[in-house]
Amino acid sequence: MFVDIAKIHLKAGKGGDGAVSFHREKYVAAGGPDGGDGGKGGDIIFKADSNLSTLADFRYKRKYSAEAGQNGGASRCTGKSAPNLIISVPVGTLIKDAETGRIIADISDDEPVVVAKGGNGGWGNQHFATSTRQIPRFAKSGNPGEELDVTLELKLLADVGLIGFPNVGKSTLVSVVSEAKPKIANYHFTTLTPVLGVVRMGEGTSFVMADIPGLIEGAGEGVGLGHEFLRHVERCRMLLHVIDISGSEGRDPIQDFEKINHELEVFSGELATRPQIVVGNKCDLIDEDEVKRIAEYFEQRGYKFFPIMAAIAEGTKELVNYVAGELAKLPPILKYEAEPKPEPIFKENEHTFTIRVDNGIYYVENCKWLDDVMNRVDPDDYESLQYFERTLRSSGIIKALEDAGIQEGDTVNVLDVEFDFVL
Ligand code: GDP
Ligand code: MG
Repeated sequence: MFVDIAKIHLKAGKGGDGAVSFHREKYVAAGGPDGGDGGKGGDIIFKADSNLSTLADFRYKRKYSAEAGQNGGASRCTGKSAPNLIISVPVGTLIKDAETGRIIADISDDEPVVVAKGGNGGWGNQHFATSTRQIPRFAKSGNPGEELDVTLELKLLADVGLIGFPNVGKSTLVSVVSEAKPKIANYHFTTLTPVLGVVRMGEGTSFVMADIPGLIEGAGEGVGLGHEFLRHVERCRMLLHVIDISGSEGRDPIQDFEKINHELEVFSGELATRPQIVVGNKCDLIDEDEVKRIAEYFEQRGYKFFPIMAAIAEGTKELVNYVAGELAKLPPILKYEAEPKPEPIFKENEHTFTIRVDNGIYYVENCKWLDDVMNRVDPDDYESLQYFERTLRSSGIIKALEDAGIQEGDTVNVLDVEFDFVL
């Protein structure tokens, strides 16, 4: 069975704990703190693999976790960072936060993307010695890795998408213009999984055509096969709408066309406005006057119309030449932009804290809510530090420190992490 959507759970590795240790050496009575930092937890990274074509693997394995970083050791020994977990997905997989629907990444090129960040290692006690605290008997534990549910959605990367009722000849068309060999048969829904065919135009130019399963009435409302497959043409720059011009199955080709367009409209108004070319197939089964009549119907409505006989590749050369020419004028295949993660905002007077000044150090205490923020602060990352500063400001901590008389360069201690106060 073809699987093009999946929901999985990700848990990046926890950072290793910092160590509490003291330097020991002969003849040195009491050495200083030398507990090393914990190693970084493993990230979970997604990467495109062009050999994959479905998300089937994710139906069976739904939980993915990266390893934890090692704990720090004595003698300033930093714990080993855990290896990253790399998950391969088909090209064109869209990753969304399952809870909010936020787009995290579009895995449609060679660029691997970190989707769940491993936690940083905790600081060993070597960092916690201050002028007033010579023997720090504590270290920070490692930060937890990011944990979240994500949905994976495969949205094929194709320039041209074939749409149309079952049995009108879509698969036949792909098979004669590309090297792809989709299943062709005279019964409905022979195409159950999308097939991508590369149409080579010579001189190194080519485009990708996607044969997707036939749409049926009610597809736009999610009835039966169709709705879920419409998402495969969402990225297509152009749609080829194939009709059985002979009405060989007792339906009217023009009605077929209007019905399918209605389905598209229901699914996505935007998709319904995608450039569309009408391909009248099975011209061998009706006389020329009838072909002309149908061609006129579409041309009057502003559609480019191509009569073909896919089975014997008649008229297909003209069709692909025209398509290639039109594609050259269209923007490239849609790539989804990652949406920024909304950060929690802490408002003044909504979160408690107290400030205590002891020996020139400004302690910010009774602020358990800050734990989460502190856990995410990565001192090596500028954006992360900026977020930390914004939090201190929006929650009123900076103002309170100033009211307490803090000066530039004084030491601030927030939940045991010390830093210099800089404006
Ligand atoms: P799909 O369901 O739209 O992919 O249709 P298929 O490509 O599987 O074709 C359905 C049937 O129509 C098959 O039996 C084909 O051989 C037949 N067919 C395809 N093209 C032509 C054509 O140009 N003329 C005629 N008479 N039959 C065709
Ligand atoms: Mg087919």
